[in-house]
Amino acid sequence: HKAYLNSLKEVPAITNDGVGITLLANISNDKDMTKALEFGAKGAGLLRTEMMYMEKESFPTEEEQYQFYKSVAIHAQGTPVTVRTLDIGGDKPLGYFDLPKEENPFLGYRAIRISLDRQEIFTTQLRAILRAGVHGNLKIMFPMISSVMELRKAKEILDQVKEELFSEGIVFAPNIPVGIMIEVPSAAIMADVLAKEVDFFSIGTNDLCQYTLAVDRGNENIKQLYDPFDPAVLRLVHQSIERAHDHNISVSVCGELASDTRATLLLMGMGLREFSMSSTSIPEVKDIIRKHNIKKAKEIWNHVMNMDHSKSITDYLEKHI
Ligand code: PEP
Ligand code: MG
Repeated sequence: HKAYLNSLKEVPAITNDGVGITLLANISNDKDMTKALEFGAKGAGLLRTEMMYMEKESFPTEEEQYQFYKSVAIHAQGTPVTVRTLDIGGDKPLGYFDLPKEENPFLGYRAIRISLDRQEIFTTQLRAILRAGVHGNLKIMFPMISSVMELRKAKEILDQVKEELFSEGIVFAPNIPVGIMIEVPSAAIMADVLAKEVDFFSIGTNDLCQYTLAVDRGNENIKQLYDPFDPAVLRLVHQSIERAHDHNISVSVCGELASDTRATLLLMGMGLREFSMSSTSIPEVKDIIRKHNIKKAKEIWNHVMNMDHSKSITDYLEKHI
């Protein structure tokens, strides 16, 4: 079986009725990027930049970050890389950054909220990404957007940073695509509004599941309640995909659900054509794609969309792949 999956690294991710699916990788650095290409990824749908911050003793300088993003861009060999701006807080601490003690860190000072509050941290990162963008095919993505005003504020800062780079005569990628994570229910609900103001969505099912079901993603006591196959989560995923299509922007899923082979056809049936996952999952997901067709995927989603709880959904999915 291992040799068989190995042989899939080279072949295209295409259904047996000829529909191409883009499989991307979730990465944290340039080494991951190389590994991703070896596993057959067509780029990186999620570069989690927080790992780079966590490895340092203090906030990385613009130059350090520039070298880091540039190296990832070069290792991507022309394929696209979606660089997500800093996503700390919640379950991700940063040794040298004194985060406030909070009752509910996942509902608190986190991700884009920190970037908009501590703008010097944000602008340093944006400058580095924009500059590195000339060495490859980079995109910028904001995590944990929960309202259109937050997005507008982030984009306004991005525009200011571009103007500064321009007036300083520093080369950068001015037309870098800008997207957002859809991982807070309010963003999924307002996806029609948000889609008008970005180039792409990436659906983060890990946080979307926790926030939709009010289940802490790391709490062992309620582990059995954490279920991305819950129909409430699936409806939000589906509706986010549809609103992206309505507005002709691209959409991927980058949460763990993207690497669950039980979800592959289901997500394709919802209309998804782009997945981002850990590199090692790519061959297995590709195998499912190559053995099935879009008609079957649509049948599966049409059936599942009328089911009322996750157990019936996963039982059905396990029977059908
Ligand atoms: C997600 O929330 O689904 C996601 C991909 O982001 P992270 O797991 O880094 O929070
Ligand atoms: Mg997340």
